[in-house]
Amino acid sequence: MDDHPAESGIRTIAHVVRSDEKFFASFVLMSGANDRPSVKDGGFMYDQETLARWDKQYIWHPFTQMEEYADMEPLIIEEGDGSYLIDVEGNRYIDGVSSLWVLVHGHGKRELIDAIEKQSNMLCHSTLLGLANTPAIILARMLVDIAPNGLSKVFYSDNGSTSVEIALKMAYQYWQQRGEKKRKRFISFSNGYHGDTIGSVSVGGINLFHKVYGPLLFKTYKSPSPYCYRCPLKLHKETCGMACIEEFEKIVIKHKDEVCAVVIEPHVQGAGGMIVQPDGFLSAVRKITKAHNLLLIADEVATGFGRTGNMFACNKERIEPDFLCVAKGITGGYLPLAATLTTEEIFSAFLGPFDTFKTFFHGHTYTGNPLACSVAIENINLFEKEKTLENMNDKIALLKKELQRFSALPHVGEVRQEGFMVGIELVKNRKTKRPYAPKEKIGQKVTQEARRRGVIMRPLGDVIVLMPPLAIEKPTLKRLIDVTYESIKVITGMLENGDKNRR
Ligand SMILES: *Cc1c(COP(=O)(O)O)cnc(C)c1O
Repeated sequence: MDDHPAESGIRTIAHVVRSDEKFFASFVLMSGANDRPSVKDGGFMYDQETLARWDKQYIWHPFTQMEEYADMEPLIIEEGDGSYLIDVEGNRYIDGVSSLWVLVHGHGKRELIDAIEKQSNMLCHSTLLGLANTPAIILARMLVDIAPNGLSKVFYSDNGSTSVEIALKMAYQYWQQRGEKKRKRFISFSNGYHGDTIGSVSVGGINLFHKVYGPLLFKTYKSPSPYCYRCPLKLHKETCGMACIEEFEKIVIKHKDEVCAVVIEPHVQGAGGMIVQPDGFLSAVRKITKAHNLLLIADEVATGFGRTGNMFACNKERIEPDFLCVAKGITGGYLPLAATLTTEEIFSAFLGPFDTFKTFFHGHTYTGNPLACSVAIENINLFEKEKTLENMNDKIALLKKELQRFSALPHVGEVRQEGFMVGIELVKNRKTKRPYAPKEKIGQKVTQEARRRGVIMRPLGDVIVLMPPLAIEKPTLKRLIDVTYESIKVITGMLENGDKNRR
């Protein structure tokens, strides 16, 4: 890539230069000979071509094949407005996956911006290691209030993966300190996803993401995924009597003396492909873990904060886990924050004089960050003020109704929906359920088509994902669905014709 910009001096693009109160100054400067960003009047200086070039030159994008990315026109987002994202050219896109599943009340929400601003004038950060801060305290109290019963202690971190790591370490140490030293293993589910750090990958079950790291991982027992469309036990939903639960129970009985906890994404396996569990599956898992004295870790990083239409997916089957992991929606999508909630029973096993070393020796630098906590508080307040969950009911029904016509498309294998989590699985052959070859990149192509039509989405392999912001307006939701439908129709139709119509 060309290192030396032909251009130099100051260049601006009219639409990125604004001084309204809504936006922190974003002036544009092409710096001179040495190609370094300059700062003038407190704002960043850039122009679009420079940004595009620097993006490819300096950023290693997550979960992205950078060889392909290098050939693509980067889409650079500059502004958010409700359910829309706006790029540096001023194009508006519906944020169809809520900026990777985090958005609740939309972009640019005044109350959330004000909460951050107000707190930033007071205190931006102080450590939670042995010190407290006001927003962290208030938020902990609120989380305990809204969480399933029995969860009364809040341990903060900054992302979903760490919220799971913390639950794993706590569960392990709990048993160690109770004298049950043989318990070193976990049970989790195939197709499960719990994050990208080594511990959370160890309990994960997505081969594509996790296989290469195999030698680094600790051993876990995997129970079959309740993926009815492609049942790992080769049974049928109508007649199986939830045989996967029997499999789960067998694994529990066989290994219970060496197991600390069972890890599950309640009700929907998200990154595994929006796999919706049959009703009763979750409560059966809870019943079996209780009966055999195993702890249950509910990873609600994706499902929490209203995603499924309930505040937490655990509420749907009225289960009470021993750990609840939350992140993504906790701040409404404004700042990184996570929490691991647990019970008095777990907490008390960590108490004792310092020199018994029962302390939980874990804590991230930005744990309990006051800015993140203050926006999380306002996020939860807004759920009540704006009746966010109640207002979802109509939109969930609309989604359900509009999704029906997708099943008529010849390459739609299955449409799965739980609240505002939707997965549309595309298949090469509907009758045999044969998937597309990976090199056909069907999910990616549909996503690119949707982008041309003004929608941003991100697929999970061949599963097209819709995760609209909870506060999306009905007409925008309708438009999102229509664009998705058209994009699937056009792309799958083209591939059917042997790709010859590709633009
Ligand atoms: C996204 C996700 C995680 C990981 O969260 P990060 O913030 O990306 O580390 C963990 N569990 C589930 C269920 C998720 O969807």
